[in-house]
Amino acid sequence: MGELVAVGAASVAEPPRIRRLDESVVNRIAAGEVIQRPVSAVKELVENSLDAGSTSISVVVKDGGLKLIQVSDNGHGIRSEDLPILCERHTTSKLSAYEDLHSIKSMGFRGEALASMTYVGHVTVTTITEGQLHGYRVSYRDGVMEHEPKPCAAVRGTQIMVENLFYNMIARRKNLQNANDDYAKIVDLISRFAIHNSSVIFSCRKHGVNRADVHTVTTLSKLDAIKTIYGISVARDLMEITVSDDNPSRSIFEMNGFISNANYTAKKTTMVLFINDRLVECTALKRAIEVVYSSTLPKASRPFIYMSIKLPCDHVDVNIHPTKREVSLLNQESLIETIQNAVESKLMNCNTTRTFQTQTVSCAPARNFTARKDTEISPSVSGTKSQKVPVNQMVRTDSRDPFGRLHAYWQDCPASQHEKKSDLASVRIAVRQRRNPRESADLTSIHELLNEIDQNIHPGLLEIVKNCTYIGLADEVFALLQHNTHLYLVNVVNVSKELMYQQVICRFAHFNAIQLSEPAPLPELLILALKDEDLESGGDNDDELRKKIAEMNTDLLKQKGEMLEEYFCININQEGNLMRLPVILEQHTPDMDHIPEFLLSLANDVDWENEKECFQAISAVLGNELTGTDDHGQDDLDQELLAEAETAWAQREWNIQHVLFPSMRLFLKPPKSMATDGTFIQVASLEKLYKIFERC
Ligand code: ADP
Ligand code: MG
Repeated sequence: MGELVAVGAASVAEPPRIRRLDESVVNRIAAGEVIQRPVSAVKELVENSLDAGSTSISVVVKDGGLKLIQVSDNGHGIRSEDLPILCERHTTSKLSAYEDLHSIKSMGFRGEALASMTYVGHVTVTTITEGQLHGYRVSYRDGVMEHEPKPCAAVRGTQIMVENLFYNMIARRKNLQNANDDYAKIVDLISRFAIHNSSVIFSCRKHGVNRADVHTVTTLSKLDAIKTIYGISVARDLMEITVSDDNPSRSIFEMNGFISNANYTAKKTTMVLFINDRLVECTALKRAIEVVYSSTLPKASRPFIYMSIKLPCDHVDVNIHPTKREVSLLNQESLIETIQNAVESKLMNCNTTRTFQTQTVSCAPARNFTARKDTEISPSVSGTKSQKVPVNQMVRTDSRDPFGRLHAYWQDCPASQHEKKSDLASVRIAVRQRRNPRESADLTSIHELLNEIDQNIHPGLLEIVKNCTYIGLADEVFALLQHNTHLYLVNVVNVSKELMYQQVICRFAHFNAIQLSEPAPLPELLILALKDEDLESGGDNDDELRKKIAEMNTDLLKQKGEMLEEYFCININQEGNLMRLPVILEQHTPDMDHIPEFLLSLANDVDWENEKECFQAISAVLGNELTGTDDHGQDDLDQELLAEAETAWAQREWNIQHVLFPSMRLFLKPPKSMATDGTFIQVASLEKLYKIFERC
């Protein structure tokens, strides 16, 4: 109590006097907010050049921008009579009434940027307008001209030079000098502008260096611009995306851009976002998209995103941030949701051609492992060293790290043969990609089936599926998976059937095709399949009966040919030959041995009357019969030579590890039934094992 009184008594003092700040102090404080770093000055200058209608903009930087920033353009220039007020605060040619803000198309509007630069640096402007014989050059300090504009020779446009930035802000200058990464930020900024303004030529280089770090040519294609700037390795892995909404109760906008596919790998998200042609940031949208990527694709990669969003001008408030880095949007939430959904369906339905890296098993995995650790672990991970994980919970967390798979302990298997196969497969995929885009199917029954899949997801299993590590095959049917501290046995046949079924429904009417090298006659194939079945009659006329059934079934499938072709890419021609089959999973070629059973099943097991059931049954037949993950039957194995059986086994295991599991992680939406029907069985948990060992 006594203490409190003492403090109170000490703080009773005369209130300090309030004084008006000197105008130069006010201006310098304000300027420090608009021009936070060299890169913010470059952004303002480039935006001015774009506002001036330039088609060529070049940037030269010395000492990370602290010594010199020079931006030259070929825009409309500045009238000589405007030069005296050019760098005063709040002088602009772009806005006159407050209401104009609602319809503003230019990037600048506050008339603050140039002024700010003169308060924290030395600004020199050289400019010429069309039809003039000579240009003018003039330098500014603290908002005013240092001398009358001097006539000079000039090429079309404007050149603005900012020297000794922050010369009068010691602390900031020191901080920036230490950071020394502003040049990289400037290059990144110019790259972003260059993608969106692909008809403008940009260049950016360090002072005294001939080679430019960004140099673009005019192109109308944004993808070409991305290729020039970020390289072919990025452009190759991008997909175009467009979405729009025109519902005033939700949102009104158009978006188009490019997003990375499953092949792209990066540790950091690159998001290049333009809203009504302004380069802005929108953390909420970025996070929303990152969430889609991390829940759809394997964890490690962050996306590359370029998006241009156009909204009615009066739906955007451009005046909420001192450097205009952020804008506020009307109905932002529903806009983000619509874009998020579009990204998700693009990732799920794009016929993703993920090229799974075949990895040869090295005999010295331990060495590789440590090397990888050093280079790949992100600082945030190594930074958590102090929060020690209890040893009984220490597990591999990179689900794609091969170290620790059973494979690593095996002899080198005949991998080269498989590798060749997968290379071929990628070529085939590339060829198939050039298919004709078709109208998207819009049948309610398919939507219902899709919804049923979504509603039936078991969230716990989904988490396991997305983040598990494949360990190896335990026997013909079960594989071992690890998820956190738990081990699971997973029935690969069930998983494969469900995955294929879901993929058929997802890709409905949008399949790539596998062309059979020779037409396969249906009657013969059906007879082949019927031979495996026990016919009830028995006796000599079995063959006759088989022939009859085969003919009837051929007729039936021919009749349904148009629908099978259109929706499922199963092509049967008029002569009754099977010509084409759908690709259900990229990299997975159907086992031709299964085609007779597939056709028989298609003819017998499908109820053609009810649309939804019919689609469901065809999808199931495609999933069951064409996947070839079920084992080839004990009988066959017994008869084959041992060596052949081993090859078949290796092949099967390879397929499970490199095709089925990666696809499962990407696409499978495990139904609730899988938790109880023996598809996923938890066999061990590390914590419990430790308890047992502790007792020993
Ligand atoms: P704002 O862009 O908000 O108008 P600035 O301080 O950036 O304010 O620029 C002030 C004015 O100077 C602009 O309105 C424009 O008329 C003129 N200006 C600046 N840079 C250029 C340029 N590169 N080419 C032509 N005019 C320019
Ligand atoms: Mg401006």
